Amino acid sequence: MTECAKETGAILLDGRALATTQFEVLAQQVRARLERGTPCPGLAILEIGEDPAARAYVRAIVRSGERIGLTTRRVRLDAQVAPAALADALDAMAADSSIAGIIVQYPVPAPLMSTVMAHLPPHKDVDGILPLNAGLLLQGDPLALVPATPLGGMALLRHYSIALEGRHAVVVGRSTVVGKPMAQLLLQANATVTVCHTRTRNLPELTRQADILAVAAGRAHLITAEMIKPGAVVIDFGVNFVDGKMEGDVDTAAVAAIAGAITPVPGGTGPMTNVMLMRNVLAAGERLAQS
Ligand code: NAP
Repeated sequence: MTECAKETGAILLDGRALATTQFEVLAQQVRARLERGTPCPGLAILEIGEDPAARAYVRAIVRSGERIGLTTRRVRLDAQVAPAALADALDAMAADSSIAGIIVQYPVPAPLMSTVMAHLPPHKDVDGILPLNAGLLLQGDPLALVPATPLGGMALLRHYSIALEGRHAVVVGRSTVVGKPMAQLLLQANATVTVCHTRTRNLPELTRQADILAVAAGRAHLITAEMIKPGAVVIDFGVNFVDGKMEGDVDTAAVAAIAGAITPVPGGTGPMTNVMLMRNVLAAGERLAQS
């Protein structure tokens, strides 16, 4: 395992440090491409309506683009936009060779979701929200554009040389953006995977069997020390605000005394998400150039 900070026994899987080095790697790739005279198409961020929480996330994406020298373009539409106008905007982005990837910022007004799904081009779906990309992931196709958050969790496991083959991975959460793709990625890495959700009976019994426990439930402190197998690796995707403080889904302080390794919150999986989004944009851009 890579040398890293320790806290109450468990190795801290430092997403902030890994993100910093990974951003530099991506920045070098962008520079190299531009020096070769190869275009480096950027990211369009489609915002439909106003959402204060989304605004902060969009700012973070724009900053990530700046860190690696990649253009980001914000496209803002009114929440009342007509489906046909939304379709036109997406079709224009699909045809624009200066755009490699499109991220549609949530929340999308419910009546417009079907238009988004119908007009978002699969090869520019860098957030991996389309059924086609989910299906490619299911088939283990390397062309799949995979949601950035689980990719970040896997990058941390890889960076810290955590063995997955033949080990029991338990994923808590089955959303299409985190839980399910994380389970698929762990399966591809030859882990034996169990997926848990709100109807799971006796969650602690299952989490206690986990060599690798990945949690994406959106419930602060759902996972307590009694639910952990000694030495387990715990990946906490949760982002919850408790009394204004960011907390994960895991009771980090208590669990770190039992686990072998754990992602802190903040500073664990969060910083890796934008790195992996940028990596998806670069990969989509490379394929665009080859097509
Ligand atoms: P989501 O769509 O609300 O899904 C939550 C999942 O957790 C559901 O499958 C739900 O089960 C399950 N769940 C909820 N409470 C549970 C419980 N008590 N026991 C067992 N399972 C439970 O959330 P999401 O979009 O996947 O996000 C999950 C968390 O990750 C949130 O805190 C979110 O903010 C965070 N997140 C972090 C990043 C990052 O960059 N680190 C990115 C995206 C999301 P059912 O299916 O049965 O309802």
